[in-house]
Amino acid sequence: MARIPTREIAERPEGYGGPNLSPVGLELRPHELAGNVYALMANIPPKDNNGLVAGRDAALVIDAGITPEMSARIQETTATLTDRPVRYLVNTTYHGDHTFGNAAFPDEVVIVSSRVNKENMNDLAFEKQVRSGNMYGDAALLDTITEWRRPDLVFDSYAEIDLGGRLVELHHFGPGNGPGDTVVYVPEARAAWTGNFLCHAGIAHMLLQGGPVPYAESLRRMRAALPDLETLVPGHGPMGDAREAVDTLLAYLERLHDDVEASVRAGRSLEETYAACADPWAEGLDRRLVAAIEGYQVPRDRAVQGMLALCRDLHRLNVLATYRLYRAG
Ligand SMILES: [Zn+2]
Repeated sequence: MARIPTREIAERPEGYGGPNLSPVGLELRPHELAGNVYALMANIPPKDNNGLVAGRDAALVIDAGITPEMSARIQETTATLTDRPVRYLVNTTYHGDHTFGNAAFPDEVVIVSSRVNKENMNDLAFEKQVRSGNMYGDAALLDTITEWRRPDLVFDSYAEIDLGGRLVELHHFGPGNGPGDTVVYVPEARAAWTGNFLCHAGIAHMLLQGGPVPYAESLRRMRAALPDLETLVPGHGPMGDAREAVDTLLAYLERLHDDVEASVRAGRSLEETYAACADPWAEGLDRRLVAAIEGYQVPRDRAVQGMLALCRDLHRLNVLATYRLYRAG
């Protein structure tokens, strides 16, 4: 079985665009899922979403934003929603768009993530270089990041935080988009913040550092551990039905594995493998996803076309990453 690479793949398919994660124009729209439990949704998909959970004694923020300035805006937004002190910040992944804002939180805020995420926060220059590919003309904003504050508190597979009459569960189910994906589950809201691990059904996910087989195993572990989960708040793109999202992604990963494995066995080149792999986006976007995108106050056709182009790019990247992994393994 192929090993999990120690670094995410830096190679990209020809003509690859990738998600626009610049904080320019990004506004967070609070969406209350239960009392004092908020999805903080980006006004423009697929820029980063965040979250806020408050209990009697303390509040917890999910993800830190891509720049210190964005981090400050997240904190301003949460301050309008709760007067409980923010005591915890959870990073769902180590990627800069979720962690570069860490250092802009007060020192006394305890940053929590999986041990594997923390272990991957060790090369700021490389991470800034990778993330500059998502900045679409605004890469100079990454110059404001001089420090990559790492988590203060880590866990292996499970941790609980009691905010005072409100329990928050933290899970690491195994590798997915990255090696350390962390899921934040609030049982009372039946809602989970999943970072890059799980997005709305029909969105292409990114297999940056692993492969389809371990990713599918992690998803099955999540499905078994959280039978009551209903609402999915992804790190990027619209909220959705968690079960639909898991089922759709599992089917995609299984097909991707089968197709790439068959190609490698047949000795096909990368170009031949792109052509030989089923492309779920060849006929357009999933209708459920189109409906969700229509909920954004952005020009509809441009948003749908943009999402479709992004999904097709990400799918090609997944084929490339899986091909490289299986050829090496
Ligand atoms: Zn992300």
